[in-house]
Amino acid sequence: MKACLLRSARDLQLSELPDPEPGPGQVVVRLGAGGICGSDLHYYANGGNGDFLLREPLVLGHEVAGEVAAVGREVRSLKVGERVAVNPNHPCGQCRPCLAGRRNLCQNVVFYGSAARFPHVQGAFADFFLANEENCFVVPEDFPYRVAACAEPLAVALHALEQAGSVDGKSVFVAGSGPIGVLLCAAARLAGASRICTSDLLDEPLAIARSMGATESINVTDQPGRIEELAHGRGVFEVALEASGHPSGLEAALALVEPGGSIVQVGNLPRGKIAAPLGKLVAKEIRLAGSFRFDGEYARAVDLLKTGRMDVTPMLTHEFTFADLVPAFATAANKRVAMKVSLRPS
Ligand code: ZN
Repeated sequence: MKACLLRSARDLQLSELPDPEPGPGQVVVRLGAGGICGSDLHYYANGGNGDFLLREPLVLGHEVAGEVAAVGREVRSLKVGERVAVNPNHPCGQCRPCLAGRRNLCQNVVFYGSAARFPHVQGAFADFFLANEENCFVVPEDFPYRVAACAEPLAVALHALEQAGSVDGKSVFVAGSGPIGVLLCAAARLAGASRICTSDLLDEPLAIARSMGATESINVTDQPGRIEELAHGRGVFEVALEASGHPSGLEAALALVEPGGSIVQVGNLPRGKIAAPLGKLVAKEIRLAGSFRFDGEYARAVDLLKTGRMDVTPMLTHEFTFADLVPAFATAANKRVAMKVSLRPS
């Protein structure tokens, strides 16, 4: 089979790998479509993602959906030919966070397309990949693969929103209108938020954010003073969700959230120390929480997509086949033209 194999920074090639064989409780999934994620782009551009450096060739990809192509022994709930969204997260179930019900923080997690462990966990941008039965969520037979593949980033957004508590009837600020930012806007809208303001450096992603639920938007490049103006002194938003991963996004959140409000940091901040006016945490008694990946939110994300309660089509800007692998990654890295790039074998 063919797989999208990264050997080092910018050396990404369609390579021949052996077809996978399902073990007990496993299925082989034929890839329908996969979304290129920011972490895939980091591995491609830098040969690593934060602290996780490439030490051997890595098949990228973890936002995936496909068709069950073969089932292993002891698989009861899936049949060959069924379409599935596949949760890339495999917690151990044994460690302290897992036993405490916080499986997204598993200390021994296996996650597709990640160099966090060695040997690396291979990803799912391949003609075929292995999945555990319990990680597969069936979708209707005519359901678009690239929509089903969005269950993964949507689960990230749902988990982050969960950290903020109820947003029903509340005002919400979302820093950064990348894929997670626009999904946060959509999820906040669905959860009943009354006002959803989002920011970005570019107009194009802000337009997508507005079509997915944001009620207002700020281009911080064109309107550098707008955050301060909007804050009206001590802040006017009850909740801020930081999805840009840039220290300036956290600074905006600290300015815009009102006394007693909360901030959820979901964007990956740069390694090392960052500067932020944290005195506001005390003066405004702000609760600041981090959010990492997801757990049970994956099933909820699939359900929201399947039932049409969440429409992600405005963010699905491009689709490429494996034959155009490098142009697909180049397009995904261009935030002015692309929001979410989908990749399919042919
Ligand atoms: Zn665990």
